[in-house]
Amino acid sequence: MSAENPDLAIAQAATLRPITEVAETAGIPADALVPYGTDKAKVDVRKMSTPSTHGTLILVSAMSPTPAGEGKSTTTVGLADAFTLKGKRTMVALREPALGPIMGIKGGATGGGYAQVVPMEDINLHFTGDFHAIQIANNTLAALVDNHLQQGNQLGIDPRRIQWKRVVDVNDRALRSIVVGLGGASQGVPREDGFDIVVASEIMAILCLASDLADLEARISRVVIGFTYDRAPVTVQELGVAGAITMLLKDALLPNLVQTLGGTPALVHGGPFANIAHGCNSLAATRLALSLSEITVTEAGFGSDLGAEKFLDIKSRLGGLSPDGAVVVATVRALKMHGGVAKSDLATEDVDSALAGTANLARHVENLRKFGLEPVVAVNRFPTDTEAELQAVLDWAHEQGFRAALSEVWAKGGEGGLAVADELLAAMSGDRGGGFRPLYDPAGGIEESLRTLAREIYGADDVVFADRAPAQLRMLKRNGWDDLPVCVAKTQYSLSDDPTLLGAPTGHLLHVRDLVPKIGAGFVVALTGAIMAMPGLPKEPAATRMGVTDDGESIGLF
Ligand code: ADP
Repeated sequence: MSAENPDLAIAQAATLRPITEVAETAGIPADALVPYGTDKAKVDVRKMSTPSTHGTLILVSAMSPTPAGEGKSTTTVGLADAFTLKGKRTMVALREPALGPIMGIKGGATGGGYAQVVPMEDINLHFTGDFHAIQIANNTLAALVDNHLQQGNQLGIDPRRIQWKRVVDVNDRALRSIVVGLGGASQGVPREDGFDIVVASEIMAILCLASDLADLEARISRVVIGFTYDRAPVTVQELGVAGAITMLLKDALLPNLVQTLGGTPALVHGGPFANIAHGCNSLAATRLALSLSEITVTEAGFGSDLGAEKFLDIKSRLGGLSPDGAVVVATVRALKMHGGVAKSDLATEDVDSALAGTANLARHVENLRKFGLEPVVAVNRFPTDTEAELQAVLDWAHEQGFRAALSEVWAKGGEGGLAVADELLAAMSGDRGGGFRPLYDPAGGIEESLRTLAREIYGADDVVFADRAPAQLRMLKRNGWDDLPVCVAKTQYSLSDDPTLLGAPTGHLLHVRDLVPKIGAGFVVALTGAIMAMPGLPKEPAATRMGVTDDGESIGLF
């Protein structure tokens, strides 16, 4: 095994079961399976009967992470394999990886070590083509909007007020702000435009929230692409192209079936980022997993302030889900970072700094409690952690009255997740104080929803609306969109909107600089701090360490 890249080596050495067998284990009938090769398939949920029972739903979240990620996907997969080992019918529901971060810093999203979904290379690269379909659907709509301007602009769209952007699955900062339509009368109408990354596209959000093809088309019809000179919203329905966009997405809407290294059937489908979008895999995949299994383990991106909050306030509310259990993944290295240790020193033993960083972890536990969940802290053991550090963190958690256990799934697979699985079963069988409830009622208006999130989840004193936000707020009210849930785009590194405020900051303000209605998705995106919907690449992109062997095997994926 390559010491520098154990994830890829372990995945490449694994013997995969045929996907037909995995489907059989999951209870997916043969006629609903659409194989993509021998180890991947789409599931045509239309060919399956409507389930009458629902299994238990466990959400995996994390403390505020380091740039490398703290092991949420790894823990999700390993925990599911632990439940499989315990004889429970289990499924995993994960997001699909995006190529932007794979080529950048963060790497892939198939888990790690002996807790991975496979085929790792395929899933991390082009998989079943969903992201490409989403990209093309998004950009087809963009081209149709520009063509409408070119062909006489019957709808009176104001080119300065088009909010539909182009997308690409690359961290390409040079495309954040561009001018299109240059070159003369037959080359289009010049206007300012820009690219977002695919995972921030409203099409991605819609695909992940749609219950079926009809709902997908209805949502696409409602998408607001921009505004007329009279400031009236212009929808896809008015352009008359909702059918074409839906057609481009009809296969992408079907959940993808793969397997974990421990033999658990896994649905990997949809992939909005949690810092700039709503951060959860598709509702279709979660519903399918719940209908087929006793236990579904799913993940939402970054911490309780981002993916988990959106999973609970947006996806669960909209999809009628009621999560039963939650996990907060913590690592000694993230605790040390929040305790003030420089990123270059995170591998050196430092019990005091790890304990100083627990303030951040405690806030994530308390945040999830506000939704009626009793989370288990999973301390994800890294090879650089010392016994003294791990024990100190577990002792601290128990002193706080938190449920906590060591997770060793990266090194041991499902075996290493049994302690967390047992703790979860105990948490879910205890008094859950009435169970899951969303945090805010969107009927109170966007300002109030944001204020509740700022105070209850981010530890802020209040919200300030700056730049475009005040005018957008008036626009939202004018159009009757003020009572939609809010999807906050915010840095993942801090509970606040300032990535340098580590630990558990209080007394700060949430700076909202823009509000973007995503009427097809059914929420309003609030852009805070300096967060951008098109990331950039770092000084030394992971791409510089990648390649392919003569046999066609990937090198450098992680
Ligand atoms: P997240 O889902 O929180 O972003 P991942 O599960 O994708 O995090 O893990 C991020 C990276 O860290 C992966 O490369 C994974 O292999 C590695 N990793 C996770 N857990 C461990 C561990 N316990 N020991 C070593 N490496 C780990």
